[in-house]
Amino acid sequence: MAKLYFYYASMNAGKSTTLLQADFNYRERGMHTMLWTAQLDDRSDDKAIESRIGLGAEAHRYQDGTDLWAQISAAHSVEPIDCVLIDEAQFLSKDQVWQCARLADEAGIPVLCYGLRTDFQGELFPGSAALLGLADSLVELKAVCHCGKKASMNLRVDESGAAVKAGAQTEIGGNDRYVALCRKHFSEALGG
Ligand SMILES: [Zn+2]
Repeated sequence: MAKLYFYYASMNAGKSTTLLQADFNYRERGMHTMLWTAQLDDRSDDKAIESRIGLGAEAHRYQDGTDLWAQISAAHSVEPIDCVLIDEAQFLSKDQVWQCARLADEAGIPVLCYGLRTDFQGELFPGSAALLGLADSLVELKAVCHCGKKASMNLRVDESGAAVKAGAQTEIGGNDRYVALCRKHFSEALGG
């Protein structure tokens, strides 16, 4: 029985590294995988999926209206796919998460989704909310706060390192960065 998996974490927990390792494990056994990641703008990166430790791989890009069921099931009918791996899964729409569930249920393809649980205000992303509700298997990947506790939150900071408290959920092309913190230090950084 194929399953829908959601591997969730804060920033810097090694989500892309874990995805690429899983992909390698499948391909090492002669199996056929299909990689996807979000396309948020028109920038063309060297590698579609890049991990902080230097690994990378090409991937298909999904956008808002991409029908993952149609595209993946069509490819599957030409050459059977043993596993689909999706990076930046927090940006999936609710419809796309249902399409992933259908791939598991009707096409029998395991779908492994990797993404952030919450945004810089501690709110669920749409894709993460749908995955937390629908996935067969939830796996937390852990990053570490500067205090040594598990870092479950993502603080957005500006160029000077100051906490950003308001703004769009996804800042495209901006200079903001993210710091993974435990909930206590996230709360303190936002002023309680
Ligand atoms: Zn902390």
